[in-house]
Amino acid sequence: MGKMEVLNRMAYVKRERKKVKKCKLCRDNVEYIDYKDVRKLKEFMNDKGKILPKRINGNCAKHQRMVRTAIHRARKMMLVPYMNE
Ligand SMILES: [Zn+2]
Repeated sequence: MGKMEVLNRMAYVKRERKKVKKCKLCRDNVEYIDYKDVRKLKEFMNDKGKILPKRINGNCAKHQRMVRTAIHRARKMMLVPYMNE
């Protein structure tokens, strides 16, 4: 494979990935995230309990804020592990 081909392929992969990354909370019409819904919150955290940045989880700004608020509340209630960020 030539160098140009490799670069084209990388650009293609990047574009595809960007297209796939959509805010799934928007897609599901989520208006509110319950802090007691630990299973949902954990989808937006890594295994250390850290909140994933929106470029990783694909959330829009509105839902990322919603997720962050819910996780902070859940941490105070000791529902999810706490980790300094
Ligand atoms: Zn959204």
